Amino acid sequence: MKIELTGKVALVTASTGGIGFAIAKGLAESGAEVIVNGRSDKSASAAVTRLQGAVPGAKVRGAAADLSTADGVEQLRKAAGEVDILVNNAGIYGQKDFYDIDDATWDAYWQTNVMSGVRLSRALLPAMVKKGWGRVVFISSESARNIPADMIQYGVTKTAQLSLARGLAKFVAGSGVTVNSVLPGPTISDGFAEMMKDEAAKTGKSLEQLGKEFVMAHRPASVIQRAATVDEVANMVVYVCSTQASATSGAALRVDGGVVDDIV
Ligand code: NAD
Repeated sequence: MKIELTGKVALVTASTGGIGFAIAKGLAESGAEVIVNGRSDKSASAAVTRLQGAVPGAKVRGAAADLSTADGVEQLRKAAGEVDILVNNAGIYGQKDFYDIDDATWDAYWQTNVMSGVRLSRALLPAMVKKGWGRVVFISSESARNIPADMIQYGVTKTAQLSLARGLAKFVAGSGVTVNSVLPGPTISDGFAEMMKDEAAKTGKSLEQLGKEFVMAHRPASVIQRAATVDEVANMVVYVCSTQASATSGAALRVDGGVVDDIV
């Protein structure tokens, strides 16, 4: 199978680093024109340069916008124009005791992790439906199903994304546009490195080693018994964005290394 996305325009939110950057790279390698998004002009243009270095000849544009607000999403919509592929990757996470999560924090998680995808889908789906082809992907998490007791505010938003993706797939049924969610498990991204930085400094261990230890301690049901790489997650996303994935819609696709101990 050869994935060919030449002629398609893809917007990947929060793609200056981590899983988002790997998705942007995978889509560019498949020929898509890619719009990368980060919060500042500096981070967006650095990501454009990095992507052009990684994929020579890639068509890449940068669009700075903070997706934690409606205004930021509107700014991105205007900069992006019409797209064929929307990957809602923007998401914040962090461990917090439930008693310490105030309303402002709940709202910040909801706005960034859920409403950015609601707003972009509402704005960008009509053109895809009109054309009769499009792909929308929500980057959820295994935490949508394994709600972590120390990240309830995160798990709630990730479960909401599954609902949203499934509902939107039904909303555009029969249009040629597919909507799916992808559920990564622990993945060695920039955000993961940030979460582990004190531990890495203290122990001198590599991120791969810390990823493995995190998985064995907190997700012992893992079948691969290690954290995934960002490219492993991106491969699934690029596939679901491909023309070949036309019979997959309304699905929640796991790339979690088997941490959800279930057969489907
Ligand atoms: P990351 O923190 O490594 O990278 C996130 C990127 O998002 C950064 O480039 C950052 O600048 C950008 N960003 C953050 N807030 C933003 C905002 N308000 N507006 C625009 N850009 C913003 O993140 P990651 O680990 O690659 O996670 C990406 C997605 O994958 C998230 O939705 C996360 O919930 C999901 N996920 C991650 C893991 C994991 O273990 N890393 C596991 C499951 C799901």
